Amino acid sequence: KPVIGVFALQGNVREHVAMLTQVGVVARPVRRPSELAEVDALVLPGGESTTMDKLARAFELFEPLQKRIADGMPVFGTCAGMIMLADEITGGIDGQETLGGLDVTVRRNAFGRQVDSFEADLDFAAFDTPYHAVFIRAPWVERVGREVEVLSTVRSGPDTGWDRVGPEAEHSRIVAVRHDRLLATSFHPEMTGDARLHGYFAELVRDL
Ligand code: GLN
Repeated sequence: KPVIGVFALQGNVREHVAMLTQVGVVARPVRRPSELAEVDALVLPGGESTTMDKLARAFELFEPLQKRIADGMPVFGTCAGMIMLADEITGGIDGQETLGGLDVTVRRNAFGRQVDSFEADLDFAAFDTPYHAVFIRAPWVERVGREVEVLSTVRSGPDTGWDRVGPEAEHSRIVAVRHDRLLATSFHPEMTGDARLHGYFAELVRDL
């Protein structure tokens, strides 16, 4: 069985561990470099990307993480974890850095104050039925590189959970992507009991 770590300095660690266990992999919290060295793949949970950046440095995990990603370790980044994986971010704070690896530009807190949090049903080509997603001060993906596959988008409208804000004309935003071994979602897949995305990630790890 593959061993999948959950970055455990912040976020819903227990929930991610439970979902991973449910899809048949061994799941372990990762807090130090020695623990990172023992996992085949990693989940970067949601939380606050600025804090996650600082904590990763304080616990001397930042550089080891960058190195493992460069060496091809699969990572599933959710919400703040998606921000951490992005090569480029907008709306970050001064000095905020990301691990990088995922060829996208991500906008932090993109959905705006009026809809700090919302829920929406998303279509994924890989799933037969919609995936119910919980967004909490979520980012969206503004640019995707050539090798990045868009897995899902959210539409704005009264019936979709997201009422569009701001003057811009976009009615649809990218909220789930895959770039080779890196998977990222704007929303929190550990909060609804639907383990299909953790299962998708586990398959990606098993197929290596
Ligand atoms: N707004 C947070 C950030 O910028 C992400 C929110 C979340 O992970 N739920 O890091």
